[in-house]
Amino acid sequence: MIKPDGVQTRLIPEIINRFEEKHFSLKGMKLMSVERGLAEKHYEDLSGEHVFRRLVDYIVSSGPVVAMIWEGKNVVETVREMIGPTRPSDCEYATIRGEFGIDKIRNVIHGSDSVEIANKEIALWFPEGPVHWDKKINNYWNKFD
Ligand code: UDP
Ligand code: MG
Repeated sequence: MIKPDGVQTRLIPEIINRFEEKHFSLKGMKLMSVERGLAEKHYEDLSGEHVFRRLVDYIVSSGPVVAMIWEGKNVVETVREMIGPTRPSDCEYATIRGEFGIDKIRNVIHGSDSVEIANKEIALWFPEGPVHWDKKINNYWNKFD
């Protein structure tokens, strides 16, 4: 999920490009305002932490986010590596948060922690489910000569 700071600093194409370069497949994407209930459910594991209220307020009131579903081999682990640790100042330069993160709240993007959590988050953010498409359709882009 590209957080409001990532959308406002025009990082949508940069982020999509990085995941496409890794040959991950986009299976869902939407620009959306986040309602409080969704933000609270998404971050419910942090509900006992002092940062919870600030984080939820931030997601709800700072502008839209881009929710995405990406599929591919080791996608969850690889995307976490590409994102970097929570605090941008702890990140390697060549990570999304390391290059573009402002602070630990405005750290550009959320990535799921595990496949199990990813599936829960997909159900939460995409009640309609991912977009399914027949891989054979890719043949359409083969060149005929
Ligand atoms: N967060 C924070 N301070 C903390 C822990 C978390 O500001 O001490 C915020 C931060 O924006 C982080 C989000 O809460 O991205 C979710 O926390 P998590 O521990 O899941 O970090 P992430 O998986 O995003 O690196
Ligand atoms: Mg997390």
